[in-house]
Amino acid sequence: MPIYEFHCHKCDQDFETLVMRSDDVICCPKCDSKKVRRLMSGFAHKSAGGKMTSSHGGCASCAGGSCATCH
Ligand SMILES: [Zn+2]
Repeated sequence: MPIYEFHCHKCDQDFETLVMRSDDVICCPKCDSKKVRRLMSGFAHKSAGGKMTSSHGGCASCAGGSCATCH
């Protein structure tokens, strides 16, 4: 089910709603404002992605670039 998290700019409320179509106009359930922004809650785990091995220069066992197999 496509449930998205939104933030209302008018009353500062965060809410989740079911979006059936991508062009649906979302209204805040509290103040009925259309000035809402979709939050990218699905990407909250971005820091755990595949960045560690490439950006830090470490190997798989140390991830810090300081063990015997790194250099
Ligand atoms: Zn609101």
